[in-house]
Amino acid sequence: MDVTPNTPLTDFPGVGEARAKKLERLGLKTAGDLLVWYPRDYEDRRKVYTVAEAPTEGRVCVQAMAAEHPRLSRIRKGLELVQVKAADHTGALHLTFFNQGYVERAIRAGEEYIFYGAVEIQGRRRSMVNPIFERAGKQSVTGCIMPVYRLTAGISNHLLASLTRLALPCAASLPETLPQSVRQEHQLAAVEFSVTNIHFPGDEKSLETARRRLSFEELFYLAVGLSLLKSRRDKGGAGLFIPSRPLEEFSALLPFTPTASQLQVMEEVAADMASGRPMNRLVQGDVGSGKTAVAACAGWLCAKGGYQTALMAPTEVLAEQHFKSLSQLLSPAGVRVGLLTGSMTASEKKRVRAALESGEIDFAVGTHALISEGVVFRRLALIVADEQHRFGVAQRAALAAKGGEGAAPHVLVMSATPIPRTLALIIYGDLDVSVIDQLPPGRTPISTYVVREDKRQRMYGFVRKQVSEGRQVYIICPAVEDNPDAALPGEESPALNLKAVKSYAESLQREVFPDLRLGILHGKLKPREKEAAMTAFVGGETQVLVATTVVEVGVDVPNASLIIIENADRFGLSQLHQLRGRVGRGEYPSHCVLITGTRSLEAMERLHTLASTTDGFKISEEDLKARGPGDFFGNRQHGLPQMKLADLAGDMRLLSEAQQAARTLLENDPRLTRPENHPVWERVRRLFADTPDIFN
Ligand code: ADP
Ligand code: MG
Repeated sequence: MDVTPNTPLTDFPGVGEARAKKLERLGLKTAGDLLVWYPRDYEDRRKVYTVAEAPTEGRVCVQAMAAEHPRLSRIRKGLELVQVKAADHTGALHLTFFNQGYVERAIRAGEEYIFYGAVEIQGRRRSMVNPIFERAGKQSVTGCIMPVYRLTAGISNHLLASLTRLALPCAASLPETLPQSVRQEHQLAAVEFSVTNIHFPGDEKSLETARRRLSFEELFYLAVGLSLLKSRRDKGGAGLFIPSRPLEEFSALLPFTPTASQLQVMEEVAADMASGRPMNRLVQGDVGSGKTAVAACAGWLCAKGGYQTALMAPTEVLAEQHFKSLSQLLSPAGVRVGLLTGSMTASEKKRVRAALESGEIDFAVGTHALISEGVVFRRLALIVADEQHRFGVAQRAALAAKGGEGAAPHVLVMSATPIPRTLALIIYGDLDVSVIDQLPPGRTPISTYVVREDKRQRMYGFVRKQVSEGRQVYIICPAVEDNPDAALPGEESPALNLKAVKSYAESLQREVFPDLRLGILHGKLKPREKEAAMTAFVGGETQVLVATTVVEVGVDVPNASLIIIENADRFGLSQLHQLRGRVGRGEYPSHCVLITGTRSLEAMERLHTLASTTDGFKISEEDLKARGPGDFFGNRQHGLPQMKLADLAGDMRLLSEAQQAARTLLENDPRLTRPENHPVWERVRRLFADTPDIFN
């Protein structure tokens, strides 16, 4: 068979229409697609054992001779059984195949085979069920390191591996897309070698060499894309000019004195917006560092300059809270604040939209509804995205089109997820970064305790004590709706799904706190109910709020002084840190109780890490170590193109090498117009294909 990267999979032996459809579900249509469908793991099948030596753990290769002709029997209708004895000089191996009638003819007495499967021993009898087998000396899936692929129903790993092996010869005709100079400087293997060895590595070293090149490649194109994006913005069209004003004027509106750190960032933002270029700034600050005030200041400047601001929050609860506090803060200064969320009635929405279009609202607060179609601003100058990790590159790009007077609006992104610096550079490669590295004064640090079930009653006593002193309490339950089986065997699980949150709240009310006013808040409530629950808690009507993690981002109730987190071991450290940040926002000494029934030492250790520090950066690093980047920086969170091989957080060294290479390349050819750089340009464009409007 003569394959090229464009050969359709239907030309491959054994691929009919039905199989082709299934393969297409994985995005695999051509030989070339197979080559870039990288394995997710490998199975080392290199060692071939004798019958007696074969270990009984895991699957192994055993070489033996078929000692007889296979026996086919039909146990009952629809169940065929083939049995055959194989042997070498050390002993016999009894093989059984279910529903694989063809084996009767495929295995011949007197021939040598490699059998790959799990060896079982009963007494002195060794056996294997449904092994994969090949003639010795004609091996393609045994005696080597085998790729393990991501699959879909009806497509086996064996099939994918065989197809890929057939497609492999066309790796020779893949174009080399990395510039020669880059390959040389960073000692990267050639494309053919890398593609061949990522699928069927000769040994560990070749695999590592192949992986390094292919990961580098991904990171390199990512870095090039982000640099282009950034330089396009830097040089890009004029930004709306927002005149600066003395910040004392804004500070006078605040009920507190801004910290030096807040002031510094406000200055940076004001300077950006007066620079004549569009601002693209990320404000990073730990929970409670006071990022809202910075956003308010920016919006105030725009309103004073006659322009509009749109602030987007990740949840309705948070949008409503921002709306209330910003109205309070800014309306005395004549700034008109409006709210637009998805759950408002059609007529309410219509009214707000009209007010945005006519310019009667200066400062719009909302959720994603704000960027949905049909929202027209009269003179939009500033977009603020609160808690950025839910607003990716693509969303930011979509917003850029909404600026007033044909100019790109200023963009301010606020995030409480501290991330290691190198990673920030790439994830926010298109943004300038400000850091609020100071908490407002007078905060007593939150005391954190890790407790076990035996302290439950004491913990409830503590709740009562806080409430009797006039404080309020959060009780957080993990809402694992899509995974109700998440309970470990034998573990007490008071709240593993929404029903449990509800029933837990009910039983607390009935049995533990009959005299207290309890509220309940979770994602499955209707928007109105959510709002009512939140309002009641903010207003102090409810004393204890039993909630899921919907309160995780940003909600601010300074009177709350205690947060209890049930099944604390189920949360990531950064998430726990965010949750903990719901208390300690006012003048009262605050507490966080992490209650757990876990038996895992590792989980206990993680919880104690959280108890021992309130440094968000340290916590996120620990989190990254414990959970890996998959969870932490899922594609959905940062909005960057999906990496196939490269591990954004794990390959730090490689990442910075790739960035450096990208910089060098762009220094010499800033717009990638040279013919020899055309392949790079193509690859970058394809990588960012899902990110609209980036490269036009
Ligand atoms: P985050 O950075 O987590 O978004 P917020 O902006 O919600 O923090 O601020 C947390 C709390 O601290 C709010 O109640 C806010 O009013 C208060 N706050 C913000 N800045 C200061 C300050 N400089 N002094 C005192 N309190 C402040
Ligand atoms: Mg906030």
